[in-house]
Amino acid sequence: MKILITELIWKEGIEELINNGYHVDYDENLWRNREELLKKINNYDALIVRNQTKVDQELLAAGPQLKVIGRLGVGLDNIDIQSAKKMGIPVVYAKNANATSVAEYVLTALLSVSRPLHFADYDVRKGNWDRKTYTGLELAGKTLGLIGLGEISHRVAKRSLSFGMNVIGYDPFIADYDHIVSETGVQVKESLADLLTESDFISLHVPLTPSTKYLISETELQSMRATSYIINTSRGGIVNERDLAAALRRGTIAGAFLDVLEMEPIHPASELLTCSNAVITPHIAGLTQESQIRTSILVAKEVGKVMKNQPSLCVI
Ligand code: NAD
Repeated sequence: MKILITELIWKEGIEELINNGYHVDYDENLWRNREELLKKINNYDALIVRNQTKVDQELLAAGPQLKVIGRLGVGLDNIDIQSAKKMGIPVVYAKNANATSVAEYVLTALLSVSRPLHFADYDVRKGNWDRKTYTGLELAGKTLGLIGLGEISHRVAKRSLSFGMNVIGYDPFIADYDHIVSETGVQVKESLADLLTESDFISLHVPLTPSTKYLISETELQSMRATSYIINTSRGGIVNERDLAAALRRGTIAGAFLDVLEMEPIHPASELLTCSNAVITPHIAGLTQESQIRTSILVAKEVGKVMKNQPSLCVI
């Protein structure tokens, strides 16, 4: 059986597939060449992608032998799940495999606001010894608002609570008996507006869907505290970037950490690049050495299971 991989995968995942007898063709840049991909897919039994390959109806139809799609990550907005279902092609994703890495990214953002060590170090190396500007603040007692209370938020909440933060959340699909509420102790807000006005830090952990598109726009930014920060590791398009740039420039909010953008790589003319209170990273929140090995092996194993008609708990 033949497997095509169109984006970056760690070698451990490829080894797992080869050791199980699969023929693997791997080209981490194939997602950039749509025409070639459409021609090639015809010969493969499985396709493994990350978040750049557009797995739409056209691509699925061009691969009549496809038995499974593997997604090296969690967000599924680049895959037409409905069409795959209609065509009987299961989609396997890396359930929970990079959640800890994303949670640690969020904690890094919080701590880099509270203790700006790199700025202090930079200043010392310029010959200064300024003990006023870089003193920072404590996270203890501050309020963190989590939008979306799934796997990543659960891990962010546990870590932030251990710093003595108040953790509140908003997720219309969560009930009191869900783990994050009943065992972690996140206080659930009935409305997004309440969360926005009460939080010192807001972190987004929702999928990109029609209901979350531009969930954070001008009105929402206006209701945030002037001293507050927003952290987006979920998906570009959930925050309206033009409205955010305006809010950052006006001082409506204090700052932003953005790991995901509507257009990736970021457009060179993006107004966000001119905002010194925005920290922008190239979609790396979920990418650590550990999470990548975990993700690659997990997806390779689960794709293998589906190919052998065995049950997989990672099928969406
Ligand atoms: P999850 O499915 O466990 O949780 C998502 C939560 O969002 C669910 O509880 C759901 O009820 C909630 N939700 C859905 N619509 C909502 C709405 N309109 N308002 C409030 N809540 C809503 O997902 P997760 O594992 O926590 O991941 C969250 C997102 O993070 C993923 O969809 C993915 O896009 C993104 N992600 C990014 C990276 C990265 O490297 N930056 C890595 C992993 C995941």
